[in-house]
Amino acid sequence: MTNRIHNFGAGPAVLPGPVLEQARNHLLALPGVGMSVLEISHRSKAFDEILTAAETNIRALAGVPDEYHVLFLQGGATLQFSMVPMNLLPQGGSDAADYILTGSWARQAAAEAGKFGTVRIAGTTQAEGFRRLPAQDELTLSGDAAYVHVTTNNTIVGTQWGSMPDTGDVPLVIDASSDIFSRPVDIARYGLIYAGAQKNLGPAGVTLVIIRPDLAERGRASLPKLLRYATHVQGESRANTPPVFAIYLVSLVTAWLREQGGLAAMAERNARKAALLYAAVDRTGFYRGVAEPEHRSLMNATFRLADEALESQFAAEAEAAGLAGLKGHRSVGGLRASLYNACPVEAVEALVDFMVEFERLHG
Ligand code: PMP
Repeated sequence: MTNRIHNFGAGPAVLPGPVLEQARNHLLALPGVGMSVLEISHRSKAFDEILTAAETNIRALAGVPDEYHVLFLQGGATLQFSMVPMNLLPQGGSDAADYILTGSWARQAAAEAGKFGTVRIAGTTQAEGFRRLPAQDELTLSGDAAYVHVTTNNTIVGTQWGSMPDTGDVPLVIDASSDIFSRPVDIARYGLIYAGAQKNLGPAGVTLVIIRPDLAERGRASLPKLLRYATHVQGESRANTPPVFAIYLVSLVTAWLREQGGLAAMAERNARKAALLYAAVDRTGFYRGVAEPEHRSLMNATFRLADEALESQFAAEAEAAGLAGLKGHRSVGGLRASLYNACPVEAVEALVDFMVEFERLHG
């Protein structure tokens, strides 16, 4: 590929080079179809095959139990903040949900749920700037909640759950937007998993939802049609025109993940990349990590310079050296390197070399 630089952006994020090449090569005419994927009907046989490939790859990668539904929706993870409580809360049963508040995305999810029922904050580390995750014994789970909501990876501060909290029989609902398919996942442990595609799965415009069948049926019939999971189950993700091109790219990215050896291989590679980067952060004290070491995210490594005045210079010089997207989220500042599946080890090595050299010049 020509003129590609290393992309550490938090999302939309780097896509695998071979996927982009294939998409480019087939953009004018899909083999055997003679039309662009941008031009075909979402009811055509060609798109049937694309949708089936995306779903088959996802089921194979994550070992999705047969009865779970795999849905491709729109509206991003943010719409799931609303759809989850709309569908799962006010159903005669408990109208309360437990939310574990570990960052500003979790806070937004909880705020939406508050419009549809009672939100109980089962635990939070807000007072510590979300730099760590609550331990199991710091959680007050209510036991009778309709579900417990957890953000598996906190993209902004850079924390990630190692193992999920134990919620007993209460279904776990997870926002896995920024670490979906970065490591093996036991789908049967969850009631609902959602993730915007634009970090680990494909481009913006499509949101993956994996949902247990009983939960998919909970939303009452009076909900707006497209906001009801049952509509999308019945319509097989084609209740209206789906984002054909985004789903096509998800089919290619998931095929690439399978070729790479699947989620176990990804986990191994992601751990290696994060270890390289955090070792550079911890090396001398010139840099310092934002998140508590035991809760550090393997996907979004956040760090600061001991001399914070140098941070914008670091980001600008890094960009000039072909290392893009390192500026931290505007709410946290500092720096953030996102190390999603498609970020190659060589990109991290290049960043580490840059960090060492920047320190040599300014330390
Ligand atoms: N949840 C998490 C953990 C995220 O990182 C993001 C986006 N960065 C969102 C939700 C919001 O996603 P979207 O923009 O797809 O609505």
